[in-house]
Amino acid sequence: MQIDWQKAIDEILSSEICCPRCGALVPEVMVGYSRAPSAGQFAPLCQGCDSRQECDARKLVLLCEACGRELRLRGRKVNQEAMMIALLEECQRNLEESLDYLAEYWREDLDIDPEDIGKRLEEMDPQLFAQENTWRRYLEEQYLKFHRWFRERALRIPNPAWRSEYVEEIIALNYESLLGD
Ligand SMILES: [Zn+2]
Ligand SMILES: [Zn+2]
Repeated sequence: MQIDWQKAIDEILSSEICCPRCGALVPEVMVGYSRAPSAGQFAPLCQGCDSRQECDARKLVLLCEACGRELRLRGRKVNQEAMMIALLEECQRNLEESLDYLAEYWREDLDIDPEDIGKRLEEMDPQLFAQENTWRRYLEEQYLKFHRWFRERALRIPNPAWRSEYVEEIIALNYESLLGD
């Protein structure tokens, strides 16, 4: 079954929860984590990650209870609001990872020479930088979408201070953000 994730997310945002595996509309879903590349198709945020390679990252997976049982997803059953909180928090975690990567971790990843310590990722590996930037932009767009969902329902955004801290740090690194200035 081929899933159009952007459409699925839009549906999630509008009314009931659509199971990405069997398509059932359910009031509650299972949320859990998986590293299995095959689970990527049931992980909403994986839509934006690099599809050229199999995704073995730890990812948040959503499934209806029956599918969750079948695929042995270790998770908890949540309603729509709790699911949206889980997605927003997952987005925050991924954005923090991206921030850490841009700030520091890429240097270890690329094993750069100590004399290049002052250089930026975009100078050292423009292609890798572009890839990271695309991923971060995708996450920020999803964040705004989830944020809007809370706003439209006049629900509290979990951890609202997170956003301004993230933006400050990204700007301090001299990068742009869709989440503010
Ligand atoms: Zn299902
Ligand atoms: Zn992924």
